[in-house]
Amino acid sequence: MAKSAETEHPVKAYGWAATASDTTGLLSPFKFSRRATSDKDVRLKVLYCGICHSDLHMIKNEWGFTNYPIIPGHEIVGEVTEIGSKVENFKVGDKVGVGVLVGSCRSCARCCDNLENHCTKQVQTYNVPNFDGTKTYGGYSESMVADEHFVVRWPDNLPLDSGAPLLCAGITTYSPLRHFGLDKPGTKVGVVGLGGLGHVAVKMAKAFGAHVTVISTSETKKQEALEKLGADSFLISRDPEQLQGAVSSLDGIIDTVSATHSVVPLLGLLKPDGKLVMVGAPETPLEVPVFNLLRGRKILGGSNIGGLKETQEMLDFAAKHNITADVEVIPVDYVNTAMDRLVKSDVRYRFVIDVGNTLRTE
Ligand SMILES: [Zn+2]
Ligand SMILES: [Zn+2]
Repeated sequence: MAKSAETEHPVKAYGWAATASDTTGLLSPFKFSRRATSDKDVRLKVLYCGICHSDLHMIKNEWGFTNYPIIPGHEIVGEVTEIGSKVENFKVGDKVGVGVLVGSCRSCARCCDNLENHCTKQVQTYNVPNFDGTKTYGGYSESMVADEHFVVRWPDNLPLDSGAPLLCAGITTYSPLRHFGLDKPGTKVGVVGLGGLGHVAVKMAKAFGAHVTVISTSETKKQEALEKLGADSFLISRDPEQLQGAVSSLDGIIDTVSATHSVVPLLGLLKPDGKLVMVGAPETPLEVPVFNLLRGRKILGGSNIGGLKETQEMLDFAAKHNITADVEVIPVDYVNTAMDRLVKSDVRYRFVIDVGNTLRTE
């Protein structure tokens, strides 16, 4: 008889899963199991888990590759409860994080270059087969087990709840700012979209000393962008006059928007050699008139989370500069309501589940 999620591993575990394959994505209490702690494994009690927009897409099977039952969650902060005999970097009681990845081949050129996020054999934190053939389950659960290579050390002064979203939203924006050279003081950086990713991008870019322009479709978030998040200027992308006034003014743009939108006006805002970096993922292909790239030798690129070494570096940077996400902390039984609100962008800017205090384990 095939083993079930509840019996395939020796350690009982509890989470909230979407089990219906009718794509409603409703989450409910779910019994499953976690593997025993092996030599290089770190086991943690999950304290907080951020709700990433990917979680929403996945529980509803909007990308077409959800394998129910699914426990989402890849912005996981917890406390170490057990370590394997060969674990070197952690001890019981340490505060730690687990992000989007829990495995990779560890031997390809990408892995050797600390770019596990580009390894073709990477194992994501939920909804994929792990090396042992069982499926991975994410952080909307009371416990987590991962090889220590995929566990990051939590800086002492970084809040556990509002810091959790950094494990996805933080590294997703920090990595391209670094890689594309937008991390220098005085650099003119645009951030498109002010949601979970965008608001963190603004804080990261400001901490690097950049001059930050938020580019948004409407005026509604202007005051907040300038006064609360510390952006230097605000540009309404639907206002031709404002766009004209800012032509050729930015060194780079981080585009966090996952709704279909035109990148043509954004390319116009770039200086020669400017870079437009996509980190949101619209479902429909972009329309890019090539002349808009040729003139000014502009670059259109993309970025996807970051490697483990860089994730640790990002957390340490965030702790040093007091960067956290703006969050609304919720009990786990509020998660379906939170998903409904997320659909409407009714959150400033990230929900974080208080797993440690509200997830019942029976
Ligand atoms: Zn995410
Ligand atoms: Zn690899």
